[in-house]
Amino acid sequence: MHRAAALPKSIAALLRARSTAGCAMAASTPRVPLPRELLRPLAVPHRLLLGPGPSNVSPRVRAAGGQQILGHMHPEVLQVMDDIKAGIQYAFQTQNRLTLAISGTGHCAMEAALINLLEGNDTMLVGTNGIWGQRAADIARRLGAKVHELLKPPGEYFTLQDIQEGLAQHKPSMLFITHGESSTGVLQPLEGLGELCHRHGCLLLVDAVASLGGAPILMDQQGIDVLYTGSQKALSAPPGSSPISFSERAREKMLRRKTRPPSFYLDMDCLASYWGCSGEPRMYHHTVPISGIFCLREALAILAEQGLENSWEQHQAVCTRLCQGLQDLGLELFVKEEAVRLPTVTTVRVPEGYNWKEITAFLMDKHSIEISGGLGPTAGKVLRIGLMGYNATQDNVDRLLRALRDALQHCQHSRL
Ligand code: PMP
Repeated sequence: MHRAAALPKSIAALLRARSTAGCAMAASTPRVPLPRELLRPLAVPHRLLLGPGPSNVSPRVRAAGGQQILGHMHPEVLQVMDDIKAGIQYAFQTQNRLTLAISGTGHCAMEAALINLLEGNDTMLVGTNGIWGQRAADIARRLGAKVHELLKPPGEYFTLQDIQEGLAQHKPSMLFITHGESSTGVLQPLEGLGELCHRHGCLLLVDAVASLGGAPILMDQQGIDVLYTGSQKALSAPPGSSPISFSERAREKMLRRKTRPPSFYLDMDCLASYWGCSGEPRMYHHTVPISGIFCLREALAILAEQGLENSWEQHQAVCTRLCQGLQDLGLELFVKEEAVRLPTVTTVRVPEGYNWKEITAFLMDKHSIEISGGLGPTAGKVLRIGLMGYNATQDNVDRLLRALRDALQHCQHSRL
């Protein structure tokens, strides 16, 4: 009685009305009980993420994400978006005006590229030597494009000759290729590919989600028409913002479209206007994930401060040390040719008689280190170790090798 009397008049009146309204009010009474799990504090354990992504995020980038939110059209946020565009142009080595970050993960950038560049009658050639070519082919088929796949066994790459034959046979308007094939550990050579594609009237689309910042890629000099990456790999930012850039050739193809792209969210025309790429006043399109944008800005700033060439060298040095250490443990690298080993993600064969799941579980449980098993065509065959961005250090290589030695000793009971 005493408590009810203390209630503000308006709430007391509402409660009285509820208790007398009977069945009519029952419909507005919540029936799903409150989720007790949400009353516990959030628990995030400390782990070293040495799988193919995401990688650990540096304190500086995390601090950026912890800043207070601003409005998505506030001048400070628009400035951050401009900083990001300049950072992507540097990281991609491009002068392209149509350069921005997609609000979504790497798959979203892949879809953005395909949705904007393919129309019903287009033919796309896809280099499939792992899961990423399969995914691109899947998306392109959903869009109604004619898709031809050039197939290579996992662990191998495409030569100019392979591509030349595919272009001559299928006459595609676009070629999709993966620079860093993170499911197999292959680094696709890009030299000469842009020129070859352009000679055949074809655009070159490159997925650099797993390689950007970790291996050389020079968008303009290599004649790449569309390039995208993710934020959570060598940039070491949280997942969810994906840099992308389109050449003038690609832009012209988009301008020639007869139909509008079948996605509003990923329509590059609207995004260009929101990101201030079109020279026109900015138009609201969606709310950029503000915290993610702050993080991406800082991640690109760190890359710029370090310098691209230093970053490439750093990734190559840790990869070389890792590969040597793995071989010293008696393990066999999956990619035979050293020159095409992806510096960011190394694949190693699951040793004879071991169960890969027990090795990864042991590393997680005993050492709080994540590495992954294979993916798609390499599932069950390899372990994948990522050393990217903030995590690409000699110390992490040594820590992982010690933990792996331990795992190989302790998982012996799992010998088949
Ligand atoms: N392409 C490649 C080469 C990748 O490694 C990944 C992520 N593993 C993706 C695309 C997809 O990115 P996301 O998981 O961020 O959607």
